[in-house]
Amino acid sequence: SGFQRVAVIGSGAMATVMASLLVDNGRAATLWGRDAGQIDLMRRHRENHKYLPGHPLPAALALATDPVEALDGCDLVLASIPTQQIRSVFGTFAPLVPAGVPVVSVAKGIERETLLSPTGVLADTLGGPDARAYASLSGPTIAEELARKLPATAAAACRDAKVAAGLQAAFHADWFRVYTNPDLLGVELAGALKNVVAIAAGIIDGLGLGANAKSALLARGLAEISRLGVAMGASAETFAGLTGVGDLATTCFSPSGRNRSCGEALGRGQSLDGVIAGSHGVVEGVPTCRAARVLAARHGVDMPITGAVHAVLFEGLSPRDGVARLMTREARPESEQ
Ligand code: 13P
Repeated sequence: SGFQRVAVIGSGAMATVMASLLVDNGRAATLWGRDAGQIDLMRRHRENHKYLPGHPLPAALALATDPVEALDGCDLVLASIPTQQIRSVFGTFAPLVPAGVPVVSVAKGIERETLLSPTGVLADTLGGPDARAYASLSGPTIAEELARKLPATAAAACRDAKVAAGLQAAFHADWFRVYTNPDLLGVELAGALKNVVAIAAGIIDGLGLGANAKSALLARGLAEISRLGVAMGASAETFAGLTGVGDLATTCFSPSGRNRSCGEALGRGQSLDGVIAGSHGVVEGVPTCRAARVLAARHGVDMPITGAVHAVLFEGLSPRDGVARLMTREARPESEQ
């Protein structure tokens, strides 16, 4: 079967977990990172000290700082870098990615300037869907839990059903159940937009507002991100599935989630700059919030939570006033539907 030689582009927690899983599944995987110092440490200690401490790398996982070493002869590319960096990294790689080889992304964001999804950016730099298939692997996938091989699920989303099935086979494990989903747009939008809701969930945690408030936020957050997704042509079912409500829940509840933790620190009174400087990895929801706000306006969709998060992040509104604004924004609550 296909996908025997995988180039994993990125050296964060998710890149490390996915590369390790592929090796455990008998595939050849080479993990590429641009930070030579980090890759050197990973080679010497066989562990990703920086992003995934305490989890040894499988012996057969190859590590590279030369993109040719990773990409030459691969039959699948796994893109595991933050959304806002995909264009610059893959821009330099474009001539090295073998023709026709599918690219699967695990990023969850929207590019700020173009409003493109991760696979949209990849197609922009590596040729459109006529040149190669693009896919997204997404779901409730906090990397640290995957590293411990705790039971987890994901969806492999691709418009080409054969590629989706190939990804399912390559990534499936007894602790990792992989579904397929033809709705690539919905899967990517759900994964990106829920990070904005997760920042709001963290704010609720930071302010100590309780389980009722947080559950309401999840429900109303899901309503507004589904509304935008459907307006853009995504399937409503996707938002009710693993990559929608499933990932929304884990991102809003996991103590180690970066988006939720960012919100929690804001809720406790820290500044955004301070939070970002102290975060372990990129907080995708911050730039994605700007993109989501533009998309909401463009598609005429009401997204009050996204708007409130935007006001807290970029317009100087206090977290407490952000909550008050959501609770009192109309004379009486609108219909739930
Ligand atoms: P982070 O908030 O750590 O980026 O995790 C988000 C996520 O998508 C988990 O599935």
